[in-house]
Amino acid sequence: MIKITLPDGSVKEFIAGITPMEVAKSISEGFARNVISASFNGMAVETETAITTDGSLVLYTWNDKEGKKAFWHSTSHVMAQVLEEMYSGIKLTLGPAIDNGFYYDVDFGDQKIGEADFKAVEDRILEIAREKHEFKMRPVSKAEALAIYKENEYKTELISNLEDGTITFCDHSTFYDLCRGGHIPNTGLIKAMKIMSVAGAYWRGDEKNKQLTRVYGISFPKQKELTEYLELVEEAKRRDHRKLGKELELFAFSQRVGQGLPLWLPKGAALRDRLEQFLKKAQKKAGYEQVITPHIGQKELYVTSGHYAKYGADSFQPIHTPTEGEEFLLKPMNCPHHCEIYNTTPWRYKDLPKRYAESGTVYRYEQSGELHGLTRVRGFTQDDAHIFCTPDQLDSEFKKVIDLVLYVFGSLGFENFTAQVSVRDLDNPDKYIGSVENWEKAEHAIISAATDKGLNFIIESGEAAFYGPKLDFMVKDALGRQWQLGTIQVDYNLPERFDLTYKGADNELHRPVMIHRAPFGSMERFIAILIEHTAGNFPLWLMPEQAIILSLSEKYENYAEKVLTLLENHEIRGLIDNRNETIGRKIRDAEVKKIPFMIIVGEEEEKNGTISIRRHGQEGKGNSTITVEEFAQIVNEEISKTLKTFDV
Ligand SMILES: [Zn+2]
Ligand SMILES: [Zn+2]
Repeated sequence: MIKITLPDGSVKEFIAGITPMEVAKSISEGFARNVISASFNGMAVETETAITTDGSLVLYTWNDKEGKKAFWHSTSHVMAQVLEEMYSGIKLTLGPAIDNGFYYDVDFGDQKIGEADFKAVEDRILEIAREKHEFKMRPVSKAEALAIYKENEYKTELISNLEDGTITFCDHSTFYDLCRGGHIPNTGLIKAMKIMSVAGAYWRGDEKNKQLTRVYGISFPKQKELTEYLELVEEAKRRDHRKLGKELELFAFSQRVGQGLPLWLPKGAALRDRLEQFLKKAQKKAGYEQVITPHIGQKELYVTSGHYAKYGADSFQPIHTPTEGEEFLLKPMNCPHHCEIYNTTPWRYKDLPKRYAESGTVYRYEQSGELHGLTRVRGFTQDDAHIFCTPDQLDSEFKKVIDLVLYVFGSLGFENFTAQVSVRDLDNPDKYIGSVENWEKAEHAIISAATDKGLNFIIESGEAAFYGPKLDFMVKDALGRQWQLGTIQVDYNLPERFDLTYKGADNELHRPVMIHRAPFGSMERFIAILIEHTAGNFPLWLMPEQAIILSLSEKYENYAEKVLTLLENHEIRGLIDNRNETIGRKIRDAEVKKIPFMIIVGEEEEKNGTISIRRHGQEGKGNSTITVEEFAQIVNEEISKTLKTFDV
């Protein structure tokens, strides 16, 4: 008999050789019908793998991330089979599942695959799927595996790096593939699939290697789910921040300036400035002090901090001075600079905490193929701050940072988020620096702060950095996509490396604890997420233009000017469309610009000293005629619903 531990902690006894599917059936037949994959002791296994030792078993359905992974990876096997069938002589390499679907990297030789070919491949995949072929693993010796793949240099390379006795193939239908495992029971579960795109990809991601063709696909257990997914993809395209950023005139890129280096246009710069001012205002209340540090620093600074070891060789190379032989690096992180600011003064425990904040621009090299709009860039600005406190202050400081992060999310309309607390792996204490006592304090501080603040959080053991535990916030956007925002990290390492001290009540020198935190993370990435989350309909307080005045004809130009001045007196951002165009045309153009309020002025309005208001996106609804004062009240009320003042 063997003992199997299930995720709920229950332990059940079974005869050795039982399969995950049989365990599922022992729980309930209904549950077993939904089980599509499993993991045993943290390793992906097949639902038909015989279990012969004690251990913990997790059974997955389509609703689990791991279940989807097995589903999509299994589909990549069927796709590989079809590609091999339709394009003879191609060489298969790797076909993993990704966040949305899967891909297979293929060396097509002289052949090509394009969009026109997708339909035929999809049809054939579904045809094979309907035949309900089982996925079955089989062990293969290294010599045999090398012989089978002697014509395929990619698989040969993969096999060469594996140990004899650990090599397995997965069979289904007439197809086999080198594979570690982790499949769904049979192809019949795949009811809908689509090839999404093809792209070039270097073998093993190295540009010195041969370029392969990456075929992306996705599959589902129901046709309806594929339809919904494709609608979501279309909506994501409409909301793509690169497209909207151009239409709303927020930012641009110039090949002359360089790839991955965004240029903020006036409207985008103003929007970003509003975000920064908003945060600065809250931070001031929370006791932060603004600092400013240079964009470069001596190489030694980053050697001391350890960043050189982490970013050095794979990032921008040192800048050399013409004569003195000095070496500078573009700043990859603001932390070392802030440590040196801390070090300018001898501190006493009563002076702490010190909270230094900076909109700090940092530079990190990304391969050109990795660059993507504002989400992957080579230069970006962090809403960074470092808190230096005593270990006893950690608890309350952590809570204050959470308050600030929640305030930021609330003011920007991110309501759906979860948090993850990353703590030590208690079985590997050697992996971490800092005293056990301090780690316990820090982990306790984070967990109690998260609990106190009512966060929906999970605890992940072993996910902490070697230098301290952390709390990460994951927000879900309007399309249901997860983004990691706002990290709060406790750090025992930099205070050590920079020899930071303070004098305690005992008159002895002690090490402060450091907290790194950035609610937005990077301004660039955050604004990209915000654009896609809101589709460019930012919260009213953030909108580049809140109202546009549309005059019915040039005759009312003076009145339009007068209204604009009144708006400005009420701190409402507005502009006038005075073009000699029809009102219909002016409304359509204002709609495209997503300006929240259209203010229409003509004879009637001028005579009565009123304005007619029309809301963006509310076609067909009548205009309401009000005074500018009444309008200002509507705007302020709406703003105060999202933008509250930060209370400490
Ligand atoms: Zn596989
Ligand atoms: Zn930092």
